[in-house]
Amino acid sequence: MPKKKKVSKLDKLRYKRVSAWKGLSKKEIDKIFKYAEGYKIYLDKGKTERESVIYSIKLAKKHGFTDKLSKTKDKLILSNKGKAVAIIYKGRKSILDGFKLVAAHVDAPRLDLKANPLYEDEDLALLKTHYYGGIKKYHWVNRPLAMHGVIFLRGGKKLEISIGEDISDPIFVISDLLPHLAYKVQGTKKISEAITGEKLNIITGSIPVSDEEKDAIKLHILKILNEKYGFEEEDFLSSEIEIVPVSKARDVGFDRGLVGAYGHDDRICSYTAITSVFNLKSKPEYTAIALLIDKEEVGSEGNTSAQSRWLIEILGDLIKLEGKEPTEYRTTKLLAKSYCLSADVAAGINPDYKEVHEKRNAPRMGYGITLVKFTGSRGKGGSSDANAELVSYIREIFNKAKVKWQVGELGKVDEGGGGTIAKYISNLGVETIDCGTPVLGMHSPLELASKVDLYETYKGYSAFFKAK
Ligand code: MN
Ligand code: MN
Repeated sequence: MPKKKKVSKLDKLRYKRVSAWKGLSKKEIDKIFKYAEGYKIYLDKGKTERESVIYSIKLAKKHGFTDKLSKTKDKLILSNKGKAVAIIYKGRKSILDGFKLVAAHVDAPRLDLKANPLYEDEDLALLKTHYYGGIKKYHWVNRPLAMHGVIFLRGGKKLEISIGEDISDPIFVISDLLPHLAYKVQGTKKISEAITGEKLNIITGSIPVSDEEKDAIKLHILKILNEKYGFEEEDFLSSEIEIVPVSKARDVGFDRGLVGAYGHDDRICSYTAITSVFNLKSKPEYTAIALLIDKEEVGSEGNTSAQSRWLIEILGDLIKLEGKEPTEYRTTKLLAKSYCLSADVAAGINPDYKEVHEKRNAPRMGYGITLVKFTGSRGKGGSSDANAELVSYIREIFNKAKVKWQVGELGKVDEGGGGTIAKYISNLGVETIDCGTPVLGMHSPLELASKVDLYETYKGYSAFFKAK
């Protein structure tokens, strides 16, 4: 038996941060690893916002949720244009008493095809892209890429494609310059300028058709697409095709404590949010909503984003189900009685770049779910700074439920920064705080998250929904 360390009275006064792995039994670790397996499947099934929504709805239906709105049903699914979804468990109290919301996003940084993308150059066919969200462009060259998305053919027929994930599929590549010739064009430049957006062109073909003079390779690609899908070049204009890394979520490290994958930001909070609602054993006191939205990575603009009126529309539906009219006054009042965890990833300390973090306030990998009181940059600019009353409320919930949690901020003051959807929900009157999972390599094709942080995030959201 190891001797118990003596803790002095004064030492107890300290705020201590402890690794969430420490003190776990074999059984508890097994539970964490098992939960991570479900999450890995979720990542593999959803490489785009649309796919994540489809799979989230599928899981919800498995757990008895329905998209048929009715007074008698407590477990509801509402979706918005196939790009956002709300999973709702109606509470014992009226919706007019407020709700508990965990709001995450299902879009992730990627490359989108331009509207008119296909061209031929130097005996190769290529597709032009425009990157979506904050990427480091050099992450995307010389790596296997897959193509996911929807295409509306002439006449309006919808086609869903996913090419590159299966080992028998072809893949797509942006070919970088060889080091031998890169010194002047790339080597002397800043890393952010060495590869420009207009050079993120994807190689899609190399064999010409023999009976054409001009653009014989491009025409060959069009011929293949036409034979397979009935596709014509103009159909690119009515499509949304997203280029994502070819990858499956994998365990990282000898101890398998981390999950490496594309899209932890923010599917890790999406998965933990929806499974928290699924696993509520009985009706919660307040209506529980897991909201997975789109377009966070481009500033939450548009009708599927957190700035859209969709949440108001959802609340209107819920009020109507109680036989009342969703007046503006009623809606405003209930928003002001509500709570939201703005569920987004945090930047864990990277041992190679400690200098950008302020250690006392930076989230650590494996230290649990992270509460971020404020984000923003240069003087909390653009941040929703959570009220101390709310931090107190969440802290009490987490401590009571033995959730392992830590505080976090996004880098040192004046180092950089960023925002989340917190401010948009908060602007509606809802008590809102950022709260999610720390990751390494955020916005890269291979982000890392700790399995224990994943699990503690799930525990944290569950405790929040269950609390009175
Ligand atoms: Mn995010
Ligand atoms: Mn992000």
